[in-house]
Amino acid sequence: MTSPNFPDSARAVVIGGGIVGCSVAYHLTKLGWRDVVLLEQGRLTCGTTWHAAGLVGQLRAHQNMTRLVQYSAELYQKLEAETGQATGWKQCGSILVARTPERVTLFRRIASAARAQGVACEIVSIEEAARKYPVMRTDDLTGALWLPEDAKVNPADVTQALAKGARMGGAKIFEQTRVTAIHQKNGAATGVATTQGDIRAEVVINCAGQWAKQLGRMAGVTVPLHSAEHMYIVTGRIDGVHPDLPVLRDPDGYIYVKEEVGGLLMGGFEPVAKPWAMNGIPENFEFGMLPDDWDQFQILMENALVRLPALETAEIKTFMNGPESFTPDNNFIMGEAPELKNFFVAAGFNSIGIASGGGAGRALAEWIVQGEPTLDLWPVDIRRFARFHDNDGFLKERVSEVLGLHYMMPWPNRELMSARPLRRSPLYDRLDAQNALFGSKMGWERPNFFAPTRADARIDYSWERQNWFPYAAAEHKATREAVTVTDLTSFSKFLVQGHDAHAVLQRLCANDIAAPVGQTVYTGLLNARGTYESDLTVARLAADRFLLVTGTAQATRDADWIGRHLGEANATLADVTSAYAVIAVMGPRARDLLARLTKAPLDNDAFPFGTIREIGVGYATVLASRRTYVGELGWELYVPTEYAGGVYDALVEAGRDLGVRNAGYYAIESLRLEKGYRAWGRELTPDYNPYEAGLSFAVKLDKGDFIGRDALLALKGKPPARRLLSFVALSPDTPIAHGGELILRDGEPVGEVTSAAYGHTVGGIVALGYAATGGARVNDGWLAARFEIDIAGERVPVRASLKAPYDPAGARLKG
Ligand SMILES: Cc1cc2nc3c(=O)[nH]c(=O)nc-3n(C[C@H](O)[C@H](O)[C@H](O)COP(=O)(O)OP(=O)(O)OC[C@H]3O[C@@H](n4cnc5c(N)ncnc54)[C@H](O)[C@@H]3O)c2cc1C
Repeated sequence: MTSPNFPDSARAVVIGGGIVGCSVAYHLTKLGWRDVVLLEQGRLTCGTTWHAAGLVGQLRAHQNMTRLVQYSAELYQKLEAETGQATGWKQCGSILVARTPERVTLFRRIASAARAQGVACEIVSIEEAARKYPVMRTDDLTGALWLPEDAKVNPADVTQALAKGARMGGAKIFEQTRVTAIHQKNGAATGVATTQGDIRAEVVINCAGQWAKQLGRMAGVTVPLHSAEHMYIVTGRIDGVHPDLPVLRDPDGYIYVKEEVGGLLMGGFEPVAKPWAMNGIPENFEFGMLPDDWDQFQILMENALVRLPALETAEIKTFMNGPESFTPDNNFIMGEAPELKNFFVAAGFNSIGIASGGGAGRALAEWIVQGEPTLDLWPVDIRRFARFHDNDGFLKERVSEVLGLHYMMPWPNRELMSARPLRRSPLYDRLDAQNALFGSKMGWERPNFFAPTRADARIDYSWERQNWFPYAAAEHKATREAVTVTDLTSFSKFLVQGHDAHAVLQRLCANDIAAPVGQTVYTGLLNARGTYESDLTVARLAADRFLLVTGTAQATRDADWIGRHLGEANATLADVTSAYAVIAVMGPRARDLLARLTKAPLDNDAFPFGTIREIGVGYATVLASRRTYVGELGWELYVPTEYAGGVYDALVEAGRDLGVRNAGYYAIESLRLEKGYRAWGRELTPDYNPYEAGLSFAVKLDKGDFIGRDALLALKGKPPARRLLSFVALSPDTPIAHGGELILRDGEPVGEVTSAAYGHTVGGIVALGYAATGGARVNDGWLAARFEIDIAGERVPVRASLKAPYDPAGARLKG
């Protein structure tokens, strides 16, 4: 029956009354949007929220994800005072235990990252861990970590408190109201159809948890998530278990444990998960539970019995099996859908929706109200996915792997293995036959390195030099000393063309792209804050036609950003990624090699650095772009896909006596870091501006207006609060850095490493990272201070510089 107060319009309609929807509604009202309607098909919390365990663990892999949880913690503590609704908040701390030496190394790395991120965290002795958690067996442990600020809450109560706070701020909440369709016009959401009638809305927000995928599909929006069963048990009272007991995590045993009414709640993340609802979520799955599955739970139970001997005799009062939604990369999904304007998503919380719900709700509300996120949310940005991620077969197989990632060792360069190989370049089979070990990015199979034998084409994960170290070293060396070919086909490529193409791109790009035909320009795409939305290369192919080449991961994001700014302009954007394979020919012998296959002049006068020309290579006609990401003489060949095999074969054949060999992405990483080249998502994100990133050369304030110019004008001439620096270890034999490590200047924390690798030419770790300047000008005197990188507790002395450690003058690439 339709409620008499049911509105026919609202400024914002939030779909879903779980913790996330209630948090979004609450924060929209806090930001002054009072006309907010929240619709829940059942009753508040009836989806996944009601049966969550309620752990609030703060430290996340990415600094901004940590910030979201830190904010959740702040909010949950004060919600009761604000709303009168208790939340069950208890700051009990959490203890993590290790069963292996590798896990202890991880703990040391976590402790270092925690310092960089401002989270309280300390390594504690096993004796101390035993004191904190007396019912735990400790004789088999190798180490422990203590996070005093971690907490637990009652998820249903927090949600009710958020809902109450939202109502107090003006929001209206309607339960038993299902959204049945999304209305849209001209590519924008305009409202919803519901079981109580239609509501027109400026903004529609899909917070439908595991239902978010099907709601997305109703609207033509990709929300790639899949349900998986997630289980825990609750015991009766156990001697020695009391409400102040910290949360216990034993990740090598896949389990977490929390005190619950004098007993223990024990659940976990088994290595092979059990996907659920392959044919869709059943109707009326309200406060739904799934059947007990002791077979699936067995691995958790066995491990829990090792850690908590008291479980042997404890009464099992509850077996809770409820579905939760998981995403292809174990990060949740937020933001405005690239397919539909004014349609926002916050879903797929991978079992951290309670911890992240407060912060995610605020971040999305800010995004809605301000039109863009206020901090870098790239790890959870909906635009990191593409249409192919919505494939049911892919999702089912991927979530089976993803759930277990929570407690699996987060090895550096860890690759997911499920649902692969997916996107294959035309060179894939050739490279595979040469023992390429492929990594996966945006679904693309990309060669990481080439091994001498098939058996060696594997990654033996470790914190130190991994098995592929010598292979990547040889590829690195060949690029510096001879010539290598690399399959860069996964680069995202766009054609922007039409009468207004130039004008639109001038407004989007911070650099001046008014270049002659045949010229390429490296540029940032900035937002109004003057920070990075992307960085890419613009090649002018004709007066009104531009080829944009950008990172593999940025395809959806960049298309969305550029597409939004095309507006009414007479210009079109086409994704031509699949139309071209890309083969990089890099190294001092690159010219010699190409010259054997083309009649086109390749000397510096005819083909200078930064230009792009159509040339013949073997039997194919390709676009050759003289640029580099490795700091050597070289060309990137944009080859229409069907010719790629022939071009590759010709290069390999013609280059034998020049020492040509394949190179993979691990070599590219060490090569680019020696050259100080920045990478999107690490050094360049919406948190950093070009002055901080040291890229002012690619900003032309005097070219006319562009997005971000006003913000940069305000910053120009002032010393940036932080500065991107290159670091090189002073000794060749230090532990290996992988990114995320703490940077110290004269013993004081100043920042975090963004990227790191072993630099085979400079002979030691080479890294990039932002250091806080305290307002000082970064000059030789400032850089002469004592810099160190904390690698798993070991302070490694490094040299800091603004300039690239390798060939700072760029002589090699102009050779
Ligand atoms: C066993 C278990 C333990 C967990 N433990 C923890 C933990 O300790 N810490 C932690 O942080 N997280 C934990 N989680 C994860 C957490 O529960 C979820 O991430 C979180 O509840 C997700 O909240 P949500 O609002 O996105 O989804 P939900 O709570 O599922 O809310 C979505 C709502 O949308 C409604 N809806 C769907 N479709 C429509 C429609 N068409 N119209 C109207 N309404 C609709 C649904 O009815 C539902 O109520 C756990 C999960 C499980 C399963």
